[in-house]
Amino acid sequence: MIAENDLRRQLATCTRIFAMQGMIGVFGHVSVYQPETKTVLITPGMGSDKGSLRPEDMVATDLEGKPLTGKGGPPVEWPIHTALHGARADALAVAHLHTPHATLFAIAKREFRPVTLQGAIFDDGVPLYPEAQLITNPERGNALLKVIGNKRAALLRGHGIVVVGLNLQEVLFSALVLEDDSKKYMQAAALGEVGTISPEDCRAFGGEIALERRALRAWNYFCGLEKRWDRQPSTGRSELFP
Ligand SMILES: [Zn+2]
Repeated sequence: MIAENDLRRQLATCTRIFAMQGMIGVFGHVSVYQPETKTVLITPGMGSDKGSLRPEDMVATDLEGKPLTGKGGPPVEWPIHTALHGARADALAVAHLHTPHATLFAIAKREFRPVTLQGAIFDDGVPLYPEAQLITNPERGNALLKVIGNKRAALLRGHGIVVVGLNLQEVLFSALVLEDDSKKYMQAAALGEVGTISPEDCRAFGGEIALERRALRAWNYFCGLEKRWDRQPSTGRSELFP
């Protein structure tokens, strides 16, 4: 079992990296699950400064979203996290973000497909949760579960993205790749027809370099960058979103 303190530390680091990358801001949240104790650790809600989060800032809840300590409740969209943690053994970490580029695939009537080899982790696509609504109750959490199935990510219409992984390293990597492939897809579309990577080519590449290895390399790289980050928004702008 991974100690709660270690999970808290990793969760704070992962969220600060998302903030450094301009992928989380006023809204959005990240969680990690300790299955042995059925404890969800989640970043605090709306308006908290995600770029400065510390391990002790995380909110601990049960799978019904009930806080386990006296200090404040989870973000209103906690059912995104509890539904996935409770149902999928491969969803021990979950990020809900409103990233600038991937969110556009939840707005444009265009299906997301990977366009780079790294994007091959999304070989079976990224399904769309069709309702334009916040996931604020367990019924909506269960509806999201049906949409995402056994896939790595989902888009929420007019809203944002949900990415799951075995651990926070995997969630960080997958969310970075989804955002980057979305950006490249759009930039390539300005040049002409976009060539996507076929499911067969995706699977072949995935077999060559394990996701675990890529995720760990990216984690170490971004942890190093975060240590010397000056805490200014990466975009140099002060935006409400993400
Ligand atoms: Zn949201």
